[in-house]
Amino acid sequence: MPEILDGTAIAAAIKQDVKQEVEALAAQGIKPGLAVILVGNVAASEIYVRNKAQACEEIGIHGEVVTPPATVTTEEMLQLIADLNAREDIDGILVQLPLPKHIDSKRLLDAIAPEKDADGFHPVNSGRLMAGRPALAPCTPAGVIEVLKRAKIEIAGKHAVVVGRSDIVGKPAAMLLLHENATVTICHSKTRNLGEVTRQADILVAAIGKPGFITPEMVKPGAVLIDVGINRLNTREEFDLFFKGNAKREAAFAKRGSVIVGDIHPAAFEISSAYTPVPGGVGLLTVAMLMANTVRAAKMRRGL
Ligand code: NDP
Repeated sequence: MPEILDGTAIAAAIKQDVKQEVEALAAQGIKPGLAVILVGNVAASEIYVRNKAQACEEIGIHGEVVTPPATVTTEEMLQLIADLNAREDIDGILVQLPLPKHIDSKRLLDAIAPEKDADGFHPVNSGRLMAGRPALAPCTPAGVIEVLKRAKIEIAGKHAVVVGRSDIVGKPAAMLLLHENATVTICHSKTRNLGEVTRQADILVAAIGKPGFITPEMVKPGAVLIDVGINRLNTREEFDLFFKGNAKREAAFAKRGSVIVGDIHPAAFEISSAYTPVPGGVGLLTVAMLMANTVRAAKMRRGL
């Protein structure tokens, strides 16, 4: 039976560790602070931001949500960021994506002081990550490494194949795996004979954004599967493709009218040695790693 890499338990353990660090900082009179900028009223973003604020409260981080209206201009956002950059009590700044189309998101992300870049998206932090220097790494890829380490899955010397090369998941995940001494292959939409490559993976990370894209034929039996994908299935037809006859999922679909599936087909999990489920896997680690990054930023800024 494959091991289920339980995101709930791992996220709780990370948060517990971060909480202890926060307590140690409190003894020195330091309280880390995170500011999250949430533009407009995107329902999904509101939920994500609420989860982040709640995690701050749980852990003892000062959490602040700034909520400009959807009509805010790029210039006004830049001013907001400049104010947060200048504040001594704020260690981490995060702009919740996606932003309304009229806002120049690249300019905003570049305007966040790199030492306060809690999401790790600033080019300075990407460069530091690439160069193997201490950096704030993007939270989801950092969560991928954390799952592997906490589950005591050896990374060094393994062939890790990452499918997806986005700046926020695929590329940094590959870089972090390389720093852990994996032999890394990055695949993308132009990769030829993808299945041939993924079948070589001891550790397969899927960050594609396509429901159940990695099928059992594309997986080496006994591989470790890390599924970053979050895809919502809204119709009966889509549901049946992955979960027909699955009583637990049927109940969830009947209740909510949709279910979530990752980028790896659930049937592929059965031939793995270990896998992160969706939901309940990598997704839960992102917020935990954001808390870790905020505390890291607080310490780095003070030379601790
Ligand atoms: P992007 O759309 O930015 O990137 C997708 C990547 O997949 C691209 O590099 C693309 O290749 C590649 N790809 C697309 N189609 C194929 C194909 N047919 N064969 C091989 N590669 C392909 O997505 P993200 O990286 O932002 O997100 C990936 C997934 O992770 C999504 O499901 C997203 O919802 C989820 N996610 C989860 C998070 C969490 O758990 N907290 C956080 C962020 C994302 P190319 O570059 O050539 O176009």
